[in-house]
Amino acid sequence: MASPNSSGKSILIVEDNPLNMKLFSAMVAAQGYSVLQAGDGLCGVDLSRREHPDLIIMDVDLPGISGIEATRLLKAAAETRDIPIIITTAYEYDDEIRASGCDGYMSKPISVADFVELIDSLVAQNPEPRYVRRMIEENISAG
Ligand code: MN
Repeated sequence: MASPNSSGKSILIVEDNPLNMKLFSAMVAAQGYSVLQAGDGLCGVDLSRREHPDLIIMDVDLPGISGIEATRLLKAAAETRDIPIIITTAYEYDDEIRASGCDGYMSKPISVADFVELIDSLVAQNPEPRYVRRMIEENISAG
């Protein structure tokens, strides 16, 4: 059953483990979200810039740049910094994860119920990209 706030929203999953990708994709699709997939950090950053998903689920151990580096890049760029990012890892939540600027953390193995709740709450807090609102406000104030 799709949750009422999920229609038309997309979620990008950045994950190199095929089983996790399958599990997370099925979970997200079951909530009514469109699913975008990236198998490494740079593809995740690139897809985020092009598609501006409503939320990103980010693995830490990835080929190439890590999920923490990818999160830092996305949070440093004006056009992507407002996309909520949930970091998922079997590692414990630590200072490096906190300092990445991520909006949420989910330890693996995940609890589906907790994960869905976290995803829905972060998407609901971000009903439209804040950068779009900021651009509109700046245009209004610019005359
Ligand atoms: Mn991984």
